[in-house]
Amino acid sequence: MKNAVDWFWQSIDNLPATSPVTIKRLRSVGVETFSDLLNYAPIRYSDFSQVVSIEKLAVGQKVSVIGEVVDLRQERTRKGFTIQKVVVTDTTGELTLVWFNQSYLLRTIKKGQIISASGEVKAYLFDRSMFVEEFELVDKTKYERFLNGHQADFIHTQRIIPYYSEKKGLSSRVIREKIFYLLTQFDPEFESLPEEILKQNKLASLYQSYSNIHFPENSRLYKLARDRLAFDEIFVLSLAGEIYRKNWQNEKKPYKFILSDQIKHKLTELIASLPFQLTSSQHKAVEAVIADMQKDTAMNRFLQGDVGSGKTIVAVISSYFAYLNGCQTLVMAPTEVLAVQHFKSFQAFLKNFSVKIALQTGSIKTIKDYNKKIADYDIIIGTHALFNEKLKYDKVGLVVIDEQQRFGVMQRALLRSKGINPHLLTMTATPIPRTVTLVLFGELNLSILDKPPSGRKPVKTYFVPLEKRQSAYDWIKKRLKKKEQVFIVCPLIEDSDHETLVNVRSAIAEYEKIKQIFSEYKVGLLHGRMKSKEKQQILADFKDHKFDILVSTPVIEVGIDIPNATVIVIEGAERYGLSQLHQLRGRVGRSDRQSYCLVFTESKSSDAVSRLKYFAKENNGFKLSEYDLKMRGPGEVFGIRQSGYLNVKFASLLDLNLIEKASKAVLDFIENCKLEEFPILKKLVSYYDSKLISRD
Ligand code: ADP
Ligand code: MG
Repeated sequence: MKNAVDWFWQSIDNLPATSPVTIKRLRSVGVETFSDLLNYAPIRYSDFSQVVSIEKLAVGQKVSVIGEVVDLRQERTRKGFTIQKVVVTDTTGELTLVWFNQSYLLRTIKKGQIISASGEVKAYLFDRSMFVEEFELVDKTKYERFLNGHQADFIHTQRIIPYYSEKKGLSSRVIREKIFYLLTQFDPEFESLPEEILKQNKLASLYQSYSNIHFPENSRLYKLARDRLAFDEIFVLSLAGEIYRKNWQNEKKPYKFILSDQIKHKLTELIASLPFQLTSSQHKAVEAVIADMQKDTAMNRFLQGDVGSGKTIVAVISSYFAYLNGCQTLVMAPTEVLAVQHFKSFQAFLKNFSVKIALQTGSIKTIKDYNKKIADYDIIIGTHALFNEKLKYDKVGLVVIDEQQRFGVMQRALLRSKGINPHLLTMTATPIPRTVTLVLFGELNLSILDKPPSGRKPVKTYFVPLEKRQSAYDWIKKRLKKKEQVFIVCPLIEDSDHETLVNVRSAIAEYEKIKQIFSEYKVGLLHGRMKSKEKQQILADFKDHKFDILVSTPVIEVGIDIPNATVIVIEGAERYGLSQLHQLRGRVGRSDRQSYCLVFTESKSSDAVSRLKYFAKENNGFKLSEYDLKMRGPGEVFGIRQSGYLNVKFASLLDLNLIEKASKAVLDFIENCKLEEFPILKKLVSYYDSKLISRD
């Protein structure tokens, strides 16, 4: 077993008869080990499993033939193409094999050789020929085996043939050959999962699965293979998550909070003082947080809710609870603008509760002598800077991370490196399908704010085709006349976490254009390369209605609260994921007035158009992210493309049945097995762990 494991993780440098160029190319698509190569999933297949004798060939069939080469020649067309023709015979007749523009074949193929070829049979003048898609030369022993009716191992023909993504100069032919070789070396006894789990879930063996995913014998075995490999993927992800949660629970004890009658009373006072009533899901979330913080293990709760669903107040109440227990809270926002907004909201909600609140970002610092004075504050709000400085945080009982798309894991690692183990509340507006949260967080650590605060009307969204642009502008002028305000979001030219100059330039150009079109109104411009102070000022001015239209780059954050803005125009909308569009749309619809979102695109691609039309009629963030997950894959949807964390190849992250089965198996595994005894799982789990931690 040990040997099989070592074999499985071997470097591809050990592939025999493989040129350094091929090795380099494999590396450049992320294939480092035998295991990686076996997991390099085909993207499609062609069925050439039917082998037909030449006399029986019918035009239109996709089949394989085998015979002896009797003639070969090259022809040239008038347009300068070359055609390679190879005539073969079997005992029943003669057939011309045809290739285009592949002169080298005439040096590879020789008269008298046996060739096996697959392709489509075409009528060619009065004759039939085969347009060859795949071929291989067959040596005498193999040919004899074939003639005697034995299993002869053809790689490229006479079977269901896999095709792979052909990036970086790799051909399917090369990948196929290498994988074929690996399968001949694969120990059929080699397993990653305990037998019990295999049996219970009716899973094919690992060997069967790799064989049939690459070289399926038939569709039934292919499906079994796929199911097995998909199961493994989800199993490992959930196992990594489960172990992570277990470790979390075994760590240093957090502050244990209490909910005395007095504290209960104070919390009630705060809730009663709010200018609105909490929704029932806000209530539930607050209760869950307060229950978590009274436990012996540090909370790791995830609060998920659409933009505008009211996550902030949950954080405010939780922080107040920490304060009442004599602890500090750190609140981390992804950007300065949002940090400032939080600072203001926290101050407003808590103004009569003698809580001292500080704001601490890269450029704005309300505390001068930070390290000395930090103990004087109860809630410290800021950006990444909160963690980067060498701060003494010994009273921190709660950390809140807002608008986090990367699941708060990195921040947690940072905190841990500072030797504290606070309760953690992570908030996000990215609607993650339930299947995915199950894999990542398990059942228990999630609170969802599913209904927006009452009185809100859903944003009406219109897909605006190119020819309607002018009338859309006319319509916007009507809204402006009613003293409402408008956001215009420029197209995402370069996709990046940081504001790029290209995006900024395009925003400036759009700004100039909009000033012309709406000459009777005041227009502002906002982009990420501006100084933080300047951004603050512009947003404050917009909120005070000192101008009517705000043109901005796409990276300007979600979560900005400007209730009088009722229209958002999104240019180049096809470039965004639907979840991103949904978050942008959430900048409006923050009052009881009807709000609108206009999505513009110059794209004529029918995919883009149908996606945007879907967006226009769907207001549910979860549905949108599921749609994107189907169409674009998980990396794209959750902004973790580079990390590869959720890049499953065989599983669907929307397959609830699979996910429930695998999660259940994980619980069984943890109960009954030792990870040490399952080296593949162990390795994969630590691999995922490192992926989570190493991403900055
Ligand atoms: P997000 O979930 O996007 O962070 P916020 O917390 O910023 O949303 O809330 C959006 C707006 O809704 C804020 O102005 C907030 O004061 C308000 N709000 C929050 N909860 C309620 C509620 N239960 N009823 C009415 N308004 C609410
Ligand atoms: Mg928010």
